[in-house]
Amino acid sequence: MPARPLVFVHGTVILPNREIEDGAVVCSGGKIVAVGGRREIRVPKGAATIDAKGGFIGPGYIDIHVHGGAGADFMDGTPEAVRTANRVHAKHGTTSIFPTTTTGSREQITAMLRACKAVQRGWKVRDGAYVAGVHFYGPYFAPEKVGCHLKSGRRDPDPQEYRKDFDLGIIKIATCAAELTGAEAFYREAARRGYLVTCGHSDSSWSEMARAFRAGMRHVDHFWCAMSSVPSVRARLKEPMQGSMEQFTLFHEAMSTEVIADGIHLSSELLEYALRMKGPERLLLVTDANRAVDMPPGRYRFGPKADGSWFVSNGKVGINPDGSGLASTVVGMDTMVRIMKQKTSASLPEAVRMGSLTPAERAGIAQKAGSLEAGKRADVLVLDKGLNVKRVFMRGEEFAAS
Ligand SMILES: [Zn+2]
Repeated sequence: MPARPLVFVHGTVILPNREIEDGAVVCSGGKIVAVGGRREIRVPKGAATIDAKGGFIGPGYIDIHVHGGAGADFMDGTPEAVRTANRVHAKHGTTSIFPTTTTGSREQITAMLRACKAVQRGWKVRDGAYVAGVHFYGPYFAPEKVGCHLKSGRRDPDPQEYRKDFDLGIIKIATCAAELTGAEAFYREAARRGYLVTCGHSDSSWSEMARAFRAGMRHVDHFWCAMSSVPSVRARLKEPMQGSMEQFTLFHEAMSTEVIADGIHLSSELLEYALRMKGPERLLLVTDANRAVDMPPGRYRFGPKADGSWFVSNGKVGINPDGSGLASTVVGMDTMVRIMKQKTSASLPEAVRMGSLTPAERAGIAQKAGSLEAGKRADVLVLDKGLNVKRVFMRGEEFAAS
């Protein structure tokens, strides 16, 4: 059933490169049909007015690296777990989501992919953020860069395994550590299928990155987290000291990357540095959130409920149980956009772009989502002046957070 026409007014409209004060966004049939100054816009008859109350009217956020929320991890592998996590992320402004696999058995990964596919197929607004595709992230991590993920679930890329997973038709983003045996073939296969090809949980050198780049790799997961540095490459490959993922990504204009802007993983100067070096079209925001989003502090499993690794949430961030490091975030995309705006020189359109249009472009869904533009899905947020999410609309229908 086509959604009733809507007109969003009494707010500043956030576009990728500018703001429209006292703007309006008109939606009809689940799509955006007009964006502009309130006085220039023609409002269709019978349109319902959505009052932004002097705040902002922005695009729905897009998260390409996210593990769960509200007690569920996508690796739990059931449609209900997928919906539970998607609902909490919708509450925080994410309207398109790429559930992310981690290390685990072949069966656990396949169950996750099937669950995401089932949720995508039967999707309704009340299911939360729309599954725009899956980020195939684990299990092909470098052994020494597994981070908080379960070590026993990691392995080298196996074409028998990933071809079958790719054939399910739900994956849109694919990660592998560049130094692993078989990485090049993995990248070529993923690139051939049009995925965003990424290197993460890796200790690769410049030359390994260059080889990966030739095979189609164009992105690096959570910059500065679980990736190589000049000293780490030196420890592995000895002298002469070589470039790492860091230099390679900053050096190549075609490479994009992402930051976890929760204010805890990375300091303000690193966020600013990444922004200045890559710019808002090549740097994007991810939550990398685990199942403890909007849950009380306590002990939780990262990855599958049955046998995932343990971490502790203190209500602000995930921590390894021995206190040895961080274990991803417990907040939504609204926090990331807010921190990027507060802690760096990013303009409001830039901070919002990094959480919407940039991930849409990199993941290949920018024709349908990622900005307030006529013809795109009516995925619209009403935000207050402090960028807190007040109301969430997907395809022109309001999402009721319960
Ligand atoms: Zn992650």
